[in-house]
Amino acid sequence: MSDERFDLDGLPTRVLFGPGRRADVPGEVARLGGRRVLIVTGRSQQAAVAEQQAALGTAHVATLDGAVEHVPVASAARARAVADEVDADLLLAVGGGSAVGLAKAVALTSGRPLVVVPTTYSGSEMTPIWGTTEEGRKTTGRDERVRPSVVVYDPELTVDLPSGTTASSGMNAVAHCVEALWLPGANPLIRALAEEGVRELGDALPALAHTPRDLGARAAALRGAWLGGTVLALAGTGLHHKICHELGGLGLPHAPVHAAVLPAVAALLSEAAPDALRRVARALAADDGVAALRQLAVQAGAATSLGDLGLRVDQVDEVAERVAALAPAAPRAVSAADVRGVLHAALTGGT
Ligand code: NAD
Repeated sequence: MSDERFDLDGLPTRVLFGPGRRADVPGEVARLGGRRVLIVTGRSQQAAVAEQQAALGTAHVATLDGAVEHVPVASAARARAVADEVDADLLLAVGGGSAVGLAKAVALTSGRPLVVVPTTYSGSEMTPIWGTTEEGRKTTGRDERVRPSVVVYDPELTVDLPSGTTASSGMNAVAHCVEALWLPGANPLIRALAEEGVRELGDALPALAHTPRDLGARAAALRGAWLGGTVLALAGTGLHHKICHELGGLGLPHAPVHAAVLPAVAALLSEAAPDALRRVARALAADDGVAALRQLAVQAGAATSLGDLGLRVDQVDEVAERVAALAPAAPRAVSAADVRGVLHAALTGGT
């Protein structure tokens, strides 16, 4: 690529990484001037939340624990009302992409700073991308107000992540990396980070399917998620993510959808993006990038069929038309027929 040109801004989020680093959260909150912290979380992270409540002491003013996928606009409005009622001056999200997404929705309308302790591999903590859902349609956007100020990655918090969530959320991070490799906005830094992310996740996810409490593999998966979120923020979203967002709007589960769709999109784009697939194959120590992605999903124990996740054949045409109308970024022009082909393949788990 001798004619490549690119612009690159800095990587503004402060990242703390390592076993036990959750103990650093109160210091980071204080550094940001937080005196009235609202914790935003899901329903399965009580132990991690209780630790933060105790560590923050009087700086913790309330906990909102109802985060669900895709941030329904009603829950975003409720969360904003709670933040106002308790006069919170900082948001601390503890959990997966759903908790981060709800906290981002509050940050978007209020400008409150955000600290994140991620407990899945969604990568959302590294991006300025927000999303909300209303009446079956998902709306997303980029806004610097939702970009977390600090992210504290502690692999010890992920050792009890259920195996299905580990696999699908890990494949979501793989998808961030793979799509970043073929998007027109890629550059040498993005490609290096993305390939390393695929390598980390390719090592970690099959291992975690057998030994879920392996702290070394948990750390590798979390590094992969960090890299995946970072390249998602830098490269943006394209065809793969747009398909998944449309399916998410229909109520299909976010991370498993990424796992099921990725090999079919990779197959569609493999001729147009040979360097991306070569890098994927190299990262996964395989000859064929598309086949290696499929094998990784299987070895990780992730979903491979959209049909199993609830997509009906009669919904395919509408989703395909909607995705094509968005003219998603891709290494080649993509028609509604192309997207239909991807969805039909992914319905049954083919490519
Ligand atoms: P999630 O946050 O819904 O978590 C999945 C399940 O795992 C939940 O039931 C949760 O309570 C549970 N869980 C989380 N951490 C756990 C732990 N350590 N131990 C046990 N259980 C745990 O799922 P997700 O895949 O992390 O996030 C999906 C959401 O994130 C979607 O809404 C998606 O749109 C969004 N997302 C946004 C971005 C972005 O950049 N904006 C990127 C990726 C995903």
